[in-house]
Amino acid sequence: MSDGRVLLVTGGSRGIGAAVSLVAADEGWRVAVNYASNRQAAEDVVRRISDAGGAAIAVEGDVGTEGGVQAIFAAVDAAFGRLDGLVNNAGIVGPPQRIDEISPERLERMFRVNVTGSIRCAAEAVLRMSTRHGGRGGAIVNLSSVAAVLGAPGQYVDYAAAKGAIDSFTVGLAREVASESIRVNAVRPGIIDTEIHASGGLPDRARDMAPSIPMQRPGTAGEVADAILYLLSDKATYVTGAILTVSGGR
Ligand code: NAP
Repeated sequence: MSDGRVLLVTGGSRGIGAAVSLVAADEGWRVAVNYASNRQAAEDVVRRISDAGGAAIAVEGDVGTEGGVQAIFAAVDAAFGRLDGLVNNAGIVGPPQRIDEISPERLERMFRVNVTGSIRCAAEAVLRMSTRHGGRGGAIVNLSSVAAVLGAPGQYVDYAAAKGAIDSFTVGLAREVASESIRVNAVRPGIIDTEIHASGGLPDRARDMAPSIPMQRPGTAGEVADAILYLLSDKATYVTGAILTVSGGR
């Protein structure tokens, strides 16, 4: 595919989002690589895409704030003037805590970034992509988690509940915009080897969990990216409202 389609990847600077950005560019998408604070990481992804002959920009913005969402979409509009795909990838965990330890502030931020951010970005994408609003159609992929099904007891039930909301949102939005040429799907990763575990205070979590994973190993960001790119692609034109588990059997 090389017709200049434009993809916005929230949290595209590291981990799964960075892998999505790189694979998408390789497949001909022009990519907006969003980040919250680590500009260097985003610029590294953009440079790797440019060096390989692709087109990409780094876009600063916290999806957990309305100002951040507005800034992200304004930057995409200014740089590319169109939008064809959104990967709602930006997400956070917290340190392992029981429900009686989770502060109201942590809970509010967990939902603001993981849920409100994804819903607000999807809304802005629908405004640009829906045929109802004069757009060409497009595809949205949301990042759920196996935690949505397992519940993450004793670790982060707040994160798991937020990802459960993403599952419901995926199903509902898919049906809401199905007749407007927008497909909406989710991927549900298991344990993937990225820096998110260190951000939650468990840097060795992916390796430590390996024996409990049926395939006996964590997944790679690239393995999740390949599933996301399938859902974005013209190989998935009749797939909407699906939640694709990418978990090595977990
Ligand atoms: P990661 O390595 O921690 O990377 C997170 C990315 O999101 C970074 O680019 C970060 O940018 C960005 N980000 C964080 N907060 C943001 C915000 N408020 N606004 C905009 N960008 C923000 O995470 P990951 O492991 O790749 O996870 C990506 C997604 O997959 C998340 O939704 C996560 O919940 C989901 N997932 C991951 C796993 C796993 O095992 N890794 C399993 C299931 C689901 P900065 O560097 O600028 O902060």
